[in-house]
Amino acid sequence: MMGDRVLLSDLPLRSDLVGHKPYGAPQLTTPVQINVNENPFPPSAELIADLTASVAAAAADLHRYPDRDATELRAELACYLTRATGIEMGVDNVWAANGSNEILQQILQAFGGPGRTALGFVPSYSMHPIISSGTQTQWLQMPRLADFSVDMDAAVSLVAAQKPDVLFVTSPNNPTGASLPIADIRRLVLASESMVIVDEAYAEFSGRPSAITLIDEFPGRLMVVRTMSKAFAFAGGRLGYLAAAPAVIDALQLVRLPYHLSALTQAAALAALRHAESTLASVAVLISERNRVVAALQLLGVTVVDSDANFILFGMFADAAAAWQAYLDGGVLIRDLHIPGYLRASIGTPADNDSFLKVTEDIYAKMK
Ligand code: PMP
Repeated sequence: MMGDRVLLSDLPLRSDLVGHKPYGAPQLTTPVQINVNENPFPPSAELIADLTASVAAAAADLHRYPDRDATELRAELACYLTRATGIEMGVDNVWAANGSNEILQQILQAFGGPGRTALGFVPSYSMHPIISSGTQTQWLQMPRLADFSVDMDAAVSLVAAQKPDVLFVTSPNNPTGASLPIADIRRLVLASESMVIVDEAYAEFSGRPSAITLIDEFPGRLMVVRTMSKAFAFAGGRLGYLAAAPAVIDALQLVRLPYHLSALTQAAALAALRHAESTLASVAVLISERNRVVAALQLLGVTVVDSDANFILFGMFADAAAAWQAYLDGGVLIRDLHIPGYLRASIGTPADNDSFLKVTEDIYAKMK
């Protein structure tokens, strides 16, 4: 192929990136795909029709740059958050970008960077350290306990001692599933002097109150990151958002690229939000499917970590990599996050979940 005599190792890459691996959940076409915590239900015909018409209308103006501030979209996201949390929010409390990953990157660009540190409780979302290293923010981590909960006393001491510039709290936590009580999040904010990111990508699946309820208490410190990729079934649309004090959003404006959200993305996301109620009806279905899958796995003797999200971490496997391959051979793509003994599966459609349970049964029968 053109240019293939040059290798990555030949390039003058920043030395701190040498040897790093890109984020890489395998993208394979299998009958059952429950590997990246998507909503398994496709958009409704009504949503597709509305979105298509909205994108067609936006197409007539494609010779112009989009609304740089995405004002209408942010106002609608603020309305959704107000409805979901009961906390009054306005357009100045919300920021939007291409997926919550871009929001996280902008936060690290603004509040991390060379000479600064970010701390997280691992295992957690693998992009947190990757975005930290991409922004030259030194990554610090504290391991979770054997049951994947956070040892709160140890965490409070650590953040007080390490004084990270940015603290990541993921609730519900990916890949382990449980959320952190608000009282624990408050303790961490009080113990630290950090800018605290509460990553609530899976909030809609949890019965616990959102950390948005804490923003007014800590307006200069607390940021809550959300996404339309999970409950909103809009992973392909790429829309993440942030709830915070207006000054935090002013800070992100300093690092965002101008016109980062295309007119097509803004139009499509607005259409998706108009159908929020019917899309979000899938949340109850997925929670009841999660409960069904967990109960069935437990009957098979499988260990399942408590989950408040649309996925479960389960095991124990003597060889998790071999078990992952056995699922794949059975047509079921799940995720190996290299947590010894464990694999993660998203909750799919009832038919996906039946296939997953059937393959699990076969794998466990062979293990006995
Ligand atoms: N945060 C967490 C905890 C996640 O699990 C994910 C996606 N797997 C994201 C953020 C990023 O999602 P997106 O960029 O699609 O909004």
